[in-house]
Amino acid sequence: MVRTCDFPGCNNKDLAESLHTFHRLPVTDIALRQLWLLAIGLNVETKLAKIKKLCVCSAHFCEDDYVPSCPGQRKKRVLKSAAVPAPQPSAPPTRNCGKITRAAGRSWGCHNHYK
Ligand SMILES: [Zn+2]
Repeated sequence: MVRTCDFPGCNNKDLAESLHTFHRLPVTDIALRQLWLLAIGLNVETKLAKIKKLCVCSAHFCEDDYVPSCPGQRKKRVLKSAAVPAPQPSAPPTRNCGKITRAAGRSWGCHNHYK
């Protein structure tokens, strides 16, 4: 069975010709796992059995999220231990708050309140 990225709206598949790397969710680091779940739009209470089946492709990470490898080496890229997928491919990472929807709503609110 071909693995598909579980990020909302992403249909990248783990095919041999795919340029993307696929990463499983962290399970041992609970705080980090919750950040991943929020980033992919899932409840932090999601069952571990389900979490273990999820994966996110490299389209949701930036170059900084990877452990640097030697130039010319085409090994499988390794994520840094604290890397979290970006909430949306085009949105800037909101690592510090993690509350993606509320941040989006606040910018609306601010616009109305600053009068
Ligand atoms: Zn993806």
